[in-house]
Amino acid sequence: MSGLTEETVSCPYCGELLEVLLDPEEAGQSYIEDCQVCCKPITFTVHEDAMGHLSVSVRDENEAY
Ligand SMILES: [Zn+2]
Repeated sequence: MSGLTEETVSCPYCGELLEVLLDPEEAGQSYIEDCQVCCKPITFTVHEDAMGHLSVSVRDENEAY
């Protein structure tokens, strides 16, 4: 197993910096997790680039579509 990638993102609601662990198996997937600070649901989308590096983007729930 390759290791998990740690990324830091900021909450789209309150701007708090959050550390997230990215699993290679999550590439291309989205999931929702509540902010640890403001408790609002954040949509995380995991991306994998051509080099196999994982990154994540966050959106607030209202922009999900
Ligand atoms: Zn927040």
